[in-house]
Amino acid sequence: MNTPLSFEFFPPKTPEGTLKLRQARAQLYDLKPEFCSVTYGAGGSTQEGTMATVKEILAEGQEAALHYSCIGATREGVREQLSQLRAMGVKRLVALRGDMPSGYGMGGAFQYASDLVAFIRAETGNTFHIEVAAYPEVHPQAKSPAADLQAFATKVKAGADSAITQYFYNSDAYFRFVDDADKLGVHVPIVPGIMPITSSSQLLRFSDACGAEIPRWIRQRLVAYGDDVASIKAFGLEVVTDLCDQLICAGVPGLHFYTMNQSAATMALVRGLRAQSTPDE
Ligand code: FAD
Repeated sequence: MNTPLSFEFFPPKTPEGTLKLRQARAQLYDLKPEFCSVTYGAGGSTQEGTMATVKEILAEGQEAALHYSCIGATREGVREQLSQLRAMGVKRLVALRGDMPSGYGMGGAFQYASDLVAFIRAETGNTFHIEVAAYPEVHPQAKSPAADLQAFATKVKAGADSAITQYFYNSDAYFRFVDDADKLGVHVPIVPGIMPITSSSQLLRFSDACGAEIPRWIRQRLVAYGDDVASIKAFGLEVVTDLCDQLICAGVPGLHFYTMNQSAATMALVRGLRAQSTPDE
């Protein structure tokens, strides 16, 4: 299995979380990721933690991608941060609009991620590899699937180099999205986002909020397992391994794992996939 891998982390909030994340990263580096990315809270709410985590990853000799959400940001603020990131040695950004917590207006100089992508390109040329988000099951606020796909194409045409998808458990949605994007002239790599399944209630709650569909047969089983975490993990490993298998067989350009700052599930998935693949796969 030669498919490039990337791992996503969020900035920890406590010293214990920081320590645990360091340990998780050290284990995950054994899998030789192409890069590791760090999320960014809307309105810059995790800015310090995101920067600190990115610095650690760079110091550990790995390529780091910083998620950067533009909601509420000013042009001057983004300009300053871009030069700071450049000085730190960051070469890859995940450019996002982000979401404000409810009750806050959208505000700021950038309405959509496409505005941010265009700004970064205009300000910094080819300094950064720019990733954008893609939604095979349609972004929850989109006017229609066609409008969402068009918005994705606009974002890529503004200067994105590649995309990472929201996670999904139905590979048909991903394949159709890639085909439809191709028909619109979008040919950049669209890397599937993979969410390992390790718990039931957290995954179901989170998926409802971000518009990722949990197929009924998976949902029903997860609910039926109740507090039986071992069975949830074993079932999750089987389901997500099958999904990754289908994606790898179809020749996806990479797999991006939402690690949730844990190493065990992602390690088990990748090791299993590598063990069952032939050397040139
Ligand atoms: P956009 O691409 O701007 O799209 C937002 C909505 O606007 C969509 O409904 C789209 O259809 C619509 N739209 C876009 N352009 C137009 C237009 N020109 N006219 C009309 N409608 C338009 N959130 C965080 O806060 N921090 C993170 O670190 C983070 N990382 C993420 C990583 C990945 C890989 C993914 C998939 C999501 C991530 N998110 C993160 C969540 C993301 O911020 C939300 O999904 C947010 O609601 C949309 O961000 P976007 O960049 O996709 O927005």
